[in-house]
Amino acid sequence: MEEKKNLFTLIPKVDDLLQSPLIEKLSNEVPRVVVVDSIREEVELLRKRIREKKFSEAELKERIDLLPQFIEDRILRKNRYKLRRVVNGTGVVIHTNLGRSLINEEIMKNIIDVATNYSNLEYDLNLGERGSRYSHLEEIIKDITGGESAMVVNNNAAAVLLALSTMAKDREVVVSRGELIEIGGSFRVPDVMAQSGAELVDVGTTNKTHVWDYENAINENTGALLKVHTSNYRILGFTSSVSIEELKVLKDKYDIPLIEDLGSGVLIDLSKYGLEYEPTVQDSIRKGVDIVTFSGDKLLGGPQAGIIVGKKEYIDKMKKNPLTRAFRVDKFTISALESTLRYYLDEEKAVKSISTLNMLTITLDQLESKANSLKEVLCRDVDSDHLEVEVVDDTSEVGGGSLPLEKLPTKCVTLSPKMVSSSQFEKNLRDYEIPIITRVYRDKIYIDLRTVKDSEFEIILNGVLYALEI
Ligand SMILES: *Cc1c(COP(=O)(O)O)cnc(C)c1O
Repeated sequence: MEEKKNLFTLIPKVDDLLQSPLIEKLSNEVPRVVVVDSIREEVELLRKRIREKKFSEAELKERIDLLPQFIEDRILRKNRYKLRRVVNGTGVVIHTNLGRSLINEEIMKNIIDVATNYSNLEYDLNLGERGSRYSHLEEIIKDITGGESAMVVNNNAAAVLLALSTMAKDREVVVSRGELIEIGGSFRVPDVMAQSGAELVDVGTTNKTHVWDYENAINENTGALLKVHTSNYRILGFTSSVSIEELKVLKDKYDIPLIEDLGSGVLIDLSKYGLEYEPTVQDSIRKGVDIVTFSGDKLLGGPQAGIIVGKKEYIDKMKKNPLTRAFRVDKFTISALESTLRYYLDEEKAVKSISTLNMLTITLDQLESKANSLKEVLCRDVDSDHLEVEVVDDTSEVGGGSLPLEKLPTKCVTLSPKMVSSSQFEKNLRDYEIPIITRVYRDKIYIDLRTVKDSEFEIILNGVLYALEI
């Protein structure tokens, strides 16, 4: 007991710690409350260890000498943003957990301009009176897709909900059973349908639906036909689904609107770039779908948004639906989406400037040369006793519930740490200031170059040095 008391008296006072040079320096940059809390927590940790008899007097003194460094580390960690950049080494291009699509600097410049100044968000500069926030996007979406009218909401889930609620509330909506999909856990077609107030009528079977299945289900209370692009899975083998062309015939015969949830919303033919063909928004409009909805941040490569294109009579009604106010996009989204869409006026420019498309179409040669450069950076500064670095072939995924079968040949750098376990190394990489997210496979850490920028090589190097604990 006596000895313990003595040890407690060795712990420096909070005020003294506040004045230690290391911490005083930080106090100018970090809110005082963060500094004081960090000191208290480190001191409390010491007390706990003493109570648990973890220290001899000599060990405690040593630890107390290091206390300012421990406190500094705690302050810096506490002061980090909760939402922050990471390095995506997974190769999954549209990674839902890592922010889906990236916005480039040109787009960001426009956002800064609009956000740090007043803007004509809801102001008509010609008339000098109130305007509509949707007007900034309508023309360009119409130009690119060939639709009659367009509007934008917060995400595609909201777009589907708004379309169903406006066009088929209290009425029946016919959908193929094979298209009752779930996207990322929280979006399920039957649930969205229930929320919209429309009644789901599912027809056909899981693997086969025929046009007469739809036709048999149509009655005087049918509000719409819904086609959902099964963007995140495929039914293979003995299957058949009903094409837009066939649904168009039915829709005309019974005068019922046809809605299509396209999900990924691709605006250019990706098969030209060696990817699997994915139906484009233009195709759907051309084939006569009345309302098409799709995401802004999947294959389109823009900000999170839900885009609705199609017949003016329905979109005018949607604009008056009270849900529109709840789903409305803010000026950052409008600015980012307008900038993104402008690239699509020139396909070549779109593929070059939109990160998502750029990463999906990068060639294997380019990936190999990136992988070799990263390897070089790592081998230059990390001792081979600590780390083995190799360049290997692998495949990457598109992600975001898009093109689920696509396996894109890629190049990875693999890391085999010698002095720490792979699992600890992977965890340390995630713990680095700029977290590095990787894949572990057979005890090796994989960094897929498809989703890594050249400007991130130095970050990876520093992260690797940190993660090796040397
Ligand atoms: C991704 C997806 C959605 C949901 O879109 P969000 O923009 O994530 O809200 C809805 N339907 C389909 C078919 C999708 O692929």
